Amino acid sequence: MNFIRMRGAASTALMRAQYRAFTRQIPLLYLTLLANSAAVAFTFRSLAPPWLDCYLPIGLGCVCVVRLAMWLRAREREFDRSQLIRRLRVTMILVVVLGAAFTFWGLALYPYGDAYARGHVAFYMGITVIACVFCLMHLRSAALVLAAIVNVPLAVFFLLTGNPVFIAIALNIVLVSGSMIVILLIYYRDFADLVESKEALLTQQRTLQELSDLNHSLANLDPLTALPNRRRFFSDVEALIGSAQNTMFAVGIMDLDGFKQVNDLYGHVAGDRVLVETAQRLRSLVTPSVTVARLGGDEFGIIARDLSNAERFASFCAELTRISALPHTTNGMTTRLSGSLGLAIYPHAGASAEQLFERADFALFHAKTHSRGQAVTFSAEHEIQIRRSSAVEHELCHSDLREELSLMYQPIVDLRTGRVTAFEALARWRNARLGPVVPNEFIRAAEHCGMIHEITLILLEQALAFLRRCPPALSLSFNLSALDVASAEAVDRIVALLATHRDIASRIRFEVTETAFVRDFELARRAILTLKAHGARVALDDFGTGFSSLSSMDQLPIDCIKIDKSFIDDIVLRERSQSIVKTVFDLCKNLQLECVVEGVEALQQIDVLRTLGCAYVQGYVFSRPLAERDALALDVQSPLRLPAREAAVE
Ligand code: C2E
Ligand code: MG
Ligand code: MG
Repeated sequence: MNFIRMRGAASTALMRAQYRAFTRQIPLLYLTLLANSAAVAFTFRSLAPPWLDCYLPIGLGCVCVVRLAMWLRAREREFDRSQLIRRLRVTMILVVVLGAAFTFWGLALYPYGDAYARGHVAFYMGITVIACVFCLMHLRSAALVLAAIVNVPLAVFFLLTGNPVFIAIALNIVLVSGSMIVILLIYYRDFADLVESKEALLTQQRTLQELSDLNHSLANLDPLTALPNRRRFFSDVEALIGSAQNTMFAVGIMDLDGFKQVNDLYGHVAGDRVLVETAQRLRSLVTPSVTVARLGGDEFGIIARDLSNAERFASFCAELTRISALPHTTNGMTTRLSGSLGLAIYPHAGASAEQLFERADFALFHAKTHSRGQAVTFSAEHEIQIRRSSAVEHELCHSDLREELSLMYQPIVDLRTGRVTAFEALARWRNARLGPVVPNEFIRAAEHCGMIHEITLILLEQALAFLRRCPPALSLSFNLSALDVASAEAVDRIVALLATHRDIASRIRFEVTETAFVRDFELARRAILTLKAHGARVALDDFGTGFSSLSSMDQLPIDCIKIDKSFIDDIVLRERSQSIVKTVFDLCKNLQLECVVEGVEALQQIDVLRTLGCAYVQGYVFSRPLAERDALALDVQSPLRLPAREAAVE
């Protein structure tokens, strides 16, 4: 099939090339024919009858002139395949008709001439056929037909005259015509080969072009959703900056809240379906001024070029978050995600694509932490926060952290005895330039700039040294970052340090947050198993604030759950919080896990927790985090003193 098409294409190309080359030689052909015929007519002017010497050649000459004019008129036109075939066919017919007519005319004149005039006829026919065949060399069949139409009657005619001179002339003409035909055939083959190989080259170039076009579109397209990809998104933003001349436009990043859980619970095929569906919904908002792209994972990029009407833009953003929050049906189950959107406006938020993207990402982070499922636009306040974060990151990288980092220790109390059973080590950083920086801030900055593993090791060394000085009955909780748990190398360094304190390793309890499991459940699970294999225990910190999939609780090799402060804040007044906390206590009992309640600040909370069967408590009600010296000075044999009830009420 392909072969036929190729040949078909090539023969069209050949035909076109033949036609083009032949058209260039047509004037020469007719002019030679006309001039040579006029010369013969002149020789026979008083020898032959007028019909032969005058009317017939004039008639034939007119046909030639009309034909020549037609050729000249159509010289510049392009013809399709069928038109070409038709024109070449007409040419062939004319070659036959005119060839035969002129041959007849030449041979008809012969009997009227004297020896010179007859010689002129022989010369005219021989030389003219050679010239015409050469002019027709690009139309092989026409050239061969003409040679045959002229030479065969000519040779037969002269042979029949019995005149040895004319017989010799006829033989000469036939021989020369024969060699000429051989040359013509060779030339024609080379010509056809050349056209074919040129056509093959063109086809190859076309294929290469098509491949490169395909490659280009694939390189710019996300294969799953068929939306433009990250690379295209960035080049669009760059192009827009290049042409914007300070005209405002918005760069947005949308992230699906809860997508990871869909992937974990229902599998990647279901996750892919959610992404494709979300892409379809977002595509419905595409207009000439709105572009949507998939940046990777569950992140989509949006470029909105028309911000002239603030209200319309606000409702566009609301529509974006609304459609991404519509339910998805996965495996017969309906899942509802939400889409948080971070926006950065050019030129206020940044002058380059990277800057705009970073700022939109920062706004997205804010949307995700403070207003899930909504749009947040990067603001001046965010700018101050970014400056502060980079100052913190800068100091983290350039300060003597061994000198500046320290730990405070907050007691964890057994509610049944009132005695301290453990401490939680809490990091503190007093920087030479920034002063004290709160842990939430510098831990996040350290995670961002890649210093977190370093910091964890410095603090763990301090924590182990402290634990060594504590009474043997006490254990120590130590916080790990989700990034520590997600890095096999960091875990190796932690267990290497732990191995140098093997005798007290069992008194260390690492606290990991749920985010560690959201990132990569299997990796976090393996990290915890490694820590436990080295004797340490593991607690799930801030329980209830993250994904808290109870179904995966029994797959987690943890020893303890720490219920987050947010569940305790309203536990005195809210029965619902009491039920939730009671459920977690029961769960821990069933799974044989320890349970610590964090952030207990009031005596009334202690009363409620006691009735719910709480065992361990940590909070300001017993003690704030203590400096090392104060923590070591605590009498762990006696119950920790609670504040007086009146004072607590105050
Ligand atoms: P966390 O691990 O949940 O630690 C408990 C936080 O609650 C501590 O804040 C503690 O001071 C505070 N807290 C304890 N009882 C009460 C209370 O009754 N009321 C109130 N309002 N707060 C209470 P801190 O020390 O500011 O630490 C904040 C977070 O920073 C920690 O939360 C932990 O996520 C992180 N962090 C602290 N130290 C480290 C560390 O060494 N490594 C890592 N990776 N993270 C740490
Ligand atoms: Mg903790
Ligand atoms: Mg906590």
